[in-house]
Amino acid sequence: MSTSTSKPTSPPEDDLVDAIRPIRQAHPSLGAAKLLELLLQSHGDWAVSEKRLRKVLQKTGLITLANSSHHESVSRTPAIGDVGPPHNEGDVQSAPTINSDGTEQEFPSWSLNAQMDPTKWTKTVDVKVISDQKGKGLVARGPINSGEHIWVEDPFVFSPEWELEKLQLSGHACAYCTKPVASSTMQPAYCTRSCGSAFCNRLCSARGASVHAFLCPIQNPACIPFVQHVRAQKWKAPLAWARVTALLLSLAAKASDPSSSASKDLGNALSIVRGLAALSLERRVKVLPGWQASYDDSCAMWRKTHTLFVQALSIPPDPKHLKALQKLRGNASKYTGIKRLEAELFTWDGFMVGLGKMGLNMEAYGGIYALHSHVNHSCDPNISVRHITANQVSRITIISRRDITNGEELTATYVNPSGDLWTRRRELKEWGFGNCMCDRCRTEEEEARRRGDFESEGSAAKKAELEDELRDFLRI
Ligand SMILES: [Zn+2]
Ligand SMILES: [Zn+2]
Ligand SMILES: [Zn+2]
Repeated sequence: MSTSTSKPTSPPEDDLVDAIRPIRQAHPSLGAAKLLELLLQSHGDWAVSEKRLRKVLQKTGLITLANSSHHESVSRTPAIGDVGPPHNEGDVQSAPTINSDGTEQEFPSWSLNAQMDPTKWTKTVDVKVISDQKGKGLVARGPINSGEHIWVEDPFVFSPEWELEKLQLSGHACAYCTKPVASSTMQPAYCTRSCGSAFCNRLCSARGASVHAFLCPIQNPACIPFVQHVRAQKWKAPLAWARVTALLLSLAAKASDPSSSASKDLGNALSIVRGLAALSLERRVKVLPGWQASYDDSCAMWRKTHTLFVQALSIPPDPKHLKALQKLRGNASKYTGIKRLEAELFTWDGFMVGLGKMGLNMEAYGGIYALHSHVNHSCDPNISVRHITANQVSRITIISRRDITNGEELTATYVNPSGDLWTRRRELKEWGFGNCMCDRCRTEEEEARRRGDFESEGSAAKKAELEDELRDFLRI
């Protein structure tokens, strides 16, 4: 049997690490996509997703930041334990959300953000309800040429890769925009309490200092146990939710005067957060096969994370820390919507939905983007999301992959599109997808049925790997 017809197998982690190490040493600056290419060249019988490779690179410290800004990422990648968008090509997943009175109710997974104005980024796309099944999405307002840069977007919040975060904490990368501080042509600005963090200039400091303050070990010492815990777990969603919380609380502190412009900023920020596709992490996990096996352990870990989160940003147990936090929260308690906001941020249900939202909407490098989060998945996408701005990992550029006609929906892929039908479907499961039924999937499924290898491929062959990924997902 030739290698081209044998079925690829998923290598054990040790073998994978052993194989990557020499390639990484020979190519210290390659991004994950290129590394994967080289790896599969030398191990043609392996099935390894880029997401798995990234996890291994991160875990083993073989990741490098060099070149990452030129890497074309898949649209979004769930960090371990995070979950993917519930809105997809064929299957509907209804998602729970929190009512203003704190009760949980089944809702469609989407809501249209009336305040969302795409012209802030581009005049060539509209936000639209695509269908009841798919929810909201983006459509072209006119013809778009292949290779066109459709829009450039900076994140609403950014929770970077651990390596980059280390550079931020040590003052080498801007705590707001992630650029190397040394590359700044202007005078850098520093954390007012000298925790070591820096901003590349006064503008970045003005935009980022109040969010930084809530997660600064000196300005808010109560955040230390929470931050240490999520870092140890290598779990990005809670940190992203903490950044959303810090942003909303800092805006609420300024918005207690309803006539101030800060109240408009808060309104905009709230409508972005409330408009994000939502699926509670708890519910999401129960969609996965075999979830019962590790559910109790996961639940215990989520509870611990929630407790530390509340102690970090709402009610620190130490009175001295409480005082420091109250100083940062300022007049937030006078903001008229503070009760609803606190329920959305800090209750167990609110926290679970918040983590679900972060996982669903987080782009590969850790950003949550107001407009980009509207893009739906297809295995034959017509746009790609790239990080091409020199030195600024957090900035994305949306580029058309082919000509797009007026009224056509813009789609990106959430998984590596070079994978076969089975690989893509397995990866999409992690996003909370049923079977993707985009045109490409339908055609490939039809072909597989004709060949007669549909049933066997779909079931037992991938079971072991699925279980592997499930364990990963639940972070045991
Ligand atoms: Zn900056
Ligand atoms: Zn600081
Ligand atoms: Zn598909």
